[in-house]
Amino acid sequence: MRRTPATSYWIGLREKALVHFEHESLPQRVLFASGEAAAMVRAEVGRLGASRVMVIAAPAEVELAEKIIAGLPVVLRWSEVVMHVPVEVAERARAAATGHEVDLVVSVGGGSTTGLAKAIALTHGVPIVAVPTTYAGSEATSVWGLTAGTRKHTGVDPRVLPRSVVYDATLTVSLPVPMSVASGLNALAHCVDSMWGLRADPIDLALAGEGIRALVSGLPAVVADPVGLPGREHMLYGTYLSGVAFSSAGSGLHHKICHVLGGAYDLPHAQTHAVVLPYALAFNAPAAPEAERRIAAGLGAGSAVEGLQRLRLAVDAPEALRDYGFDEADIDGAAQAIALVVPDSNPRPVTVGDLRRLLRAAWQGADPQTMTNDKESRA
Ligand code: NAD
Repeated sequence: MRRTPATSYWIGLREKALVHFEHESLPQRVLFASGEAAAMVRAEVGRLGASRVMVIAAPAEVELAEKIIAGLPVVLRWSEVVMHVPVEVAERARAAATGHEVDLVVSVGGGSTTGLAKAIALTHGVPIVAVPTTYAGSEATSVWGLTAGTRKHTGVDPRVLPRSVVYDATLTVSLPVPMSVASGLNALAHCVDSMWGLRADPIDLALAGEGIRALVSGLPAVVADPVGLPGREHMLYGTYLSGVAFSSAGSGLHHKICHVLGGAYDLPHAQTHAVVLPYALAFNAPAAPEAERRIAAGLGAGSAVEGLQRLRLAVDAPEALRDYGFDEADIDGAAQAIALVVPDSNPRPVTVGDLRRLLRAAWQGADPQTMTNDKESRA
């Protein structure tokens, strides 16, 4: 069914006082308590009645994980974690889960770690208790991703949605500031893209707006005081909202661009989102005034792009795709590939020329405002 983009609901609401939409809430327990991850995880594992737990943590997060899992019935510790979940890695982890008769997975780490837990849940149906340590937001979605060669496949399946999510800000203070900034902008991108995703509805818009507010107050606080908890707590709260909104609304133009760049050119996930976001926003904003107003309000600015750029400057955000391994010679091929997957719901039509220009601007880190009045790209 072709869905009406979110902005129409609100135009309708104002003009005709008409509220007409569908929204599906995902079943998940969410716990926030700084410093209490061990007790919360133990309680959640007990609630789920598990007796054979697999713990997944990448080498850098093993120390964090060990503090959390004391007292759990752990039968398997797994630390082979690779970004975008290569199928070979997933197969090895699945075989180990089978061999140890695992009945629950605890994941402690970023989106890559949660992603591997999801790959196991997809085939084994075991519940996940997720303990996120970045702002990727995967724990709040029922989206899985697996990579075969250079192709990343994604899908939606209720089995991969973690049953419980435990947010403990003390586990994120070790996330280096540059990674915190990139990952925080990844969460912000979930909020922004939720405004015009294929299934975006007024509830998604409300969650995304609140998510933007939380992230915008959290990110500068994290940069100013990386070990301080208030900023880190705001970031996790905004991350959760961003994931819920995104899971419901679905991918918009920004995510399609980053998906192609990450999969085909092996660019780092969070940094790619951080760089592309202002360009995707500047491109869509003039055609989506209600979304633009909400994003600007969340950012506390007169315009969405201006507010985003002010935030990016304040936190020293990643600037250009060329700094992360994207070649100028690949701009045309990437534009062609993205054009094939642009969502129907995008607020304005998108040509290959538009994408070429957007990618060139992002590649060199040009002023995103140049995206707004583009005549040349219409060719
Ligand atoms: P990541 O999980 O690879 O983590 C990035 C780096 O940060 C790693 O080196 C990791 O070891 C380190 N790290 C994590 N937590 C740390 C901490 N507390 N202290 C110190 N270092 C820490 O990267 P990510 O950006 O979190 O996740 C990216 C992956 O998640 C991608 O594969 C992406 O596709 C996926 N993702 C999926 C969804 C979804 O809904 N399915 C949503 C967002 C992202």
